Amino acid sequence: MLKVLQFPDKGLRKLSATIEDSELESVVSLGRNMLSYIKKNCHKTFGSLAACQIGILKKIFVIRLPEIETIVVNPEIVSEYGGTTKSWEMCLSVPDVVGRVRRHKKCEVEYQNEKFETIKKELTQPLSRIFLHEYDHLEGKLFLDRIEHKQSDLMQVNDYFSRRKK
Ligand SMILES: [Zn+2]
Repeated sequence: MLKVLQFPDKGLRKLSATIEDSELESVVSLGRNMLSYIKKNCHKTFGSLAACQIGILKKIFVIRLPEIETIVVNPEIVSEYGGTTKSWEMCLSVPDVVGRVRRHKKCEVEYQNEKFETIKKELTQPLSRIFLHEYDHLEGKLFLDRIEHKQSDLMQVNDYFSRRKK
């Protein structure tokens, strides 16, 4: 079972290292473990997790959406564009709080898939937002760092869900 580091653990603030070809096999099995973890522990069909959140400082994260299940290796953000928007984000490493974060609506990204093939893509929301959130983890950043107004942009998870039900 994987153990996810929780804010303010210092491990979440470290830089992740590029993954080499020779590490591919272990990286793919790590990615699969991370995917099965978020299947069990995340809200229905949505989830994402970076390796540094489980104490492994390598540039890999996984994302799961209703129609997407992907392992992302050595990602780069080529550009961000399309204006910005604020939306609520959650994080397995900040389990009690949701935060409204400003990010660009679109981004162009380059990464390697689990076969080490280079993929270049333009992403739109919600995938672009999740990708940028996970990319931040590899640089030691958390969504908390991007909060503009603590009073209006941070909320307890329980309050967030009870307001949504009303
Ligand atoms: Zn996160």
